[in-house]
Amino acid sequence: MSINLKNLISVLDAKWTGPDTDIFIDHISIDSRSLQNGSKTLFFALSGANNDAHLYIPELIEKGVQNFVVHHIPKNSEGKANFLVVKNTLTALQQFAGYYRDLFDFPVLGLTGSNGKTIVKEWLNFLLSPDYNIIRSPKSYNSQVGVPLSVIAINEKHNLGIFEAGISTVNEMSKLENIIKPTIGVLTNIGSAHDEGFENLEQKIKEKLLLFKKSKVIIYQKNELVDQCLRTFCEEYPIKDRVLFSWSFGDSSADVFILEKEIKNEKTIVQYQYQSDFFDLEIPFSDSASVENTISCLLVLLYFNYDFETIQNRMQMLYPVEMRLEVKNGINNCSIIDDSYSSDFQSLKIALDFLESQQKRNATKTVILSDIFQSGFSNEELYSKVAQLIADNKVNRVIGIGKTIASFAAKFPNIITFENTAEFISKFESLNFNNETILIKGARSFQFEEIVSLLEEKTHETVLEINLNSISHNLNFFKAKLNPAVKIMVMVKAFGYGNGGLEIAKLLEHHKVDYLGVAFADEGISLKNGGIKLPIMVLNPESTSFPSIIQYQLEPEIYSIKGLKAFLKIAREKNLKDFPIHIKLDTGMHRLGFEENTIDELIETLKGNTTVQVKSVLSHLATSDEMKHYDFVISQINLFEKLSSKLIAELNINPIRHILNTSGISNFPAAQYNMVRLGIGLYGVSNDPSEQKYLENVSTLKSIISQVRKIPTGDSVGYGRRFMAEKETKIATIPIGYADGIARLWGNQVGYVMIRNQKAFIVGSICMDMLMVDVSEIDCKEGDSVIIFGESPTVIEMAEALKTIPYEILTSISQRVKRVFFR
Ligand SMILES: *Cc1c(COP(=O)(O)O)cnc(C)c1O
Repeated sequence: MSINLKNLISVLDAKWTGPDTDIFIDHISIDSRSLQNGSKTLFFALSGANNDAHLYIPELIEKGVQNFVVHHIPKNSEGKANFLVVKNTLTALQQFAGYYRDLFDFPVLGLTGSNGKTIVKEWLNFLLSPDYNIIRSPKSYNSQVGVPLSVIAINEKHNLGIFEAGISTVNEMSKLENIIKPTIGVLTNIGSAHDEGFENLEQKIKEKLLLFKKSKVIIYQKNELVDQCLRTFCEEYPIKDRVLFSWSFGDSSADVFILEKEIKNEKTIVQYQYQSDFFDLEIPFSDSASVENTISCLLVLLYFNYDFETIQNRMQMLYPVEMRLEVKNGINNCSIIDDSYSSDFQSLKIALDFLESQQKRNATKTVILSDIFQSGFSNEELYSKVAQLIADNKVNRVIGIGKTIASFAAKFPNIITFENTAEFISKFESLNFNNETILIKGARSFQFEEIVSLLEEKTHETVLEINLNSISHNLNFFKAKLNPAVKIMVMVKAFGYGNGGLEIAKLLEHHKVDYLGVAFADEGISLKNGGIKLPIMVLNPESTSFPSIIQYQLEPEIYSIKGLKAFLKIAREKNLKDFPIHIKLDTGMHRLGFEENTIDELIETLKGNTTVQVKSVLSHLATSDEMKHYDFVISQINLFEKLSSKLIAELNINPIRHILNTSGISNFPAAQYNMVRLGIGLYGVSNDPSEQKYLENVSTLKSIISQVRKIPTGDSVGYGRRFMAEKETKIATIPIGYADGIARLWGNQVGYVMIRNQKAFIVGSICMDMLMVDVSEIDCKEGDSVIIFGESPTVIEMAEALKTIPYEILTSISQRVKRVFFR
């Protein structure tokens, strides 16, 4: 990409200010953390759902970024860089992408539908890549932001595009159409589910079809409703000689008519009729969704005039698709980012940004990379670009696998190369992987899944998946409730409410929250050791931990005269000056804090003191989640007002005041003072059902089926024979038990897990490391995924049944359960 900034002023309908427009842009970014940002980057400062990127502009200018699209110029940045000021930066990004798309003229496939878009896209890429230089959306980049970013990655060597478009409500598709402008439309499974954003199925289909306004061919599964919508659509958006190319299981008037479907040994044979010939196609899957997705691909290949033999050969090699980038725990304190099924330049760029955002302090950044195929560039050009990208990203070690990358080793700093995966595996031990964040990227033929399995930490198959995007969403939901200038402290005590302290703290640091709160000093120390720079308040500092609190620059909450005196003594010995402390007042919770009758002594002790500085004064509400105790909350707030005002007046200080936790933020917005302390809400739980629906589920506890068996009538299951089969029953065993934090009370048909979207009740007593469920009605097998909690059952539902609160469910999940973070 090389675009003159001057041309963009009219494209984006922008006002320009700054030193220089005669600049050529070669990179677009919306990610302030990316190490790929540079002087030729055009940075779009998006603001909205997740973050306001305008906040990062001063930092970015310091790092050398010179060109920004903004909706306002941040204070003190005027004149220091080029600014294109627009009304809406997201719209500008989309306008830019549309403009950029018009610079290219090759066939572009546009995929939409309710299910299967990403899989069909990945498979089409695999099926067509021997013959084309394909640009495709990475992973599931199909949103209002993802689509423009995908399209911007087109370069002059590409000769086929495959992009997916996802929408959640009306009026969204036209914007995406304007960016992708597909010449070939593919409608994947449309689903019958009622989507919240649409009045009905017909409206949903009509909206999706808008992607195909300029498509010369539309590929779809025939059914009455779709046909009817297509008729109106084609009248409204006519295109000369447009082809409707359809398939169907039941309707012989479809262009491709599937006569028979037979499942054998996890494979499916479909017999289809096309242009009066019959074919038997073998598909390497047995589930119906995969079969439908394969047939969508089949139609594209037929439209491209591939012969049956080629189609069959390539289809046999189709594979399951990983939908997103994940971080997994690896051996020897390594973290692994598994992107083992793709190697192309664009997805490498994205994966490197992800690597940077997941980087652990002091860890080595390592990339394991195979040969890259079909880039369109000469190898010389390609590997120069890759080497440059790797160098820009400050990767410490590169492991190249494949003859081609090996022959360009000289271009890379710190590279070790191997001819093939087998050679790498034979030398694996000598490579000493240790305290590294490792990105694994390889073309499918290199079978890097074997490398992933060597590097992955071997634990049982139970994981707690944490969705970092949902955390951002929930944070912003609560932030939006705050008055301007009110600060936010986020509680990450108890290992981020069971979800993983460091990873969440890093995300919060990125979102520029003001404070973190932990319960004990060692929790704070491990965050500081992990590289967290935000100030951290320790709620419950023991006097024995004071020296390390000081050493690690943690900030103690002081709640008694005794504690204060002990801290002052150490502070004096160490000659501290203005060391930040937080004063906790007891206004009715009766847990920790200075009571009213100790305030005078507190004031006496602090007066004239210069070793410490009262950073904040706080108290904690006992019943902010229960409106029946409304009056009690108000009495707490009033007492807090009185006592804190007295402290402030008599000590002549100006501390941050804070009293609200999550439900306080929702129910007592008038008491925000200067800061609030967000806890459980961040993790997706509210005490109020009307608020709950705006929060996103953060944690999903998953396991697998270890074994399936049938037991006859009259047999029992588990310890104590507490389940007796009244009929022949199919039982699945799942390797998670009370030692992992699943309460025994959840057993014996009180609780259930989800398998293939169906409820499977727990039968018999939960064991230490296992539990058994009734799967008589569920078509499932060993190795299938099991959801213990998440979207369903929710932790709220579990807590109700177990007569506890979601906090306890979340924080009980034992540390032996692996945490996996994803976006
Ligand atoms: C845990 C805690 C919070 C957060 O409470 P939530 O109900 O999870 O929002 C706030 N303040 C103090 C002192 C806490 O201990």
